[in-house]
Amino acid sequence: MGRIQIDIERCKGCGLCVATCQKELIHIGEKINSHGYHTAQIHNKGECVGCANCAEMCPDVAIEVWR
Ligand code: SF4
Ligand code: SF4
Repeated sequence: MGRIQIDIERCKGCGLCVATCQKELIHIGEKINSHGYHTAQIHNKGECVGCANCAEMCPDVAIEVWR
């Protein structure tokens, strides 16, 4: 069991985390940050296994993971 927190102000919506999550829990949502980017959001939070692949992939260090 894990949990992630996405700092949407750091996110540029590149989608790398979306492609990386084996559980397909992340998508680029409707929320737009102050830089004008659609940002990553997690759904089905309870299914996160805390593998941290998304955080390791993010070039902008926008994702924190807790296990
Ligand atoms: S920690 Fe792993 S399971 Fe959880 S959202 Fe990131 S890639 Fe997906
Ligand atoms: S990899 Fe990082 S910058 Fe790219 S969409 Fe995911 S959270 Fe945003």
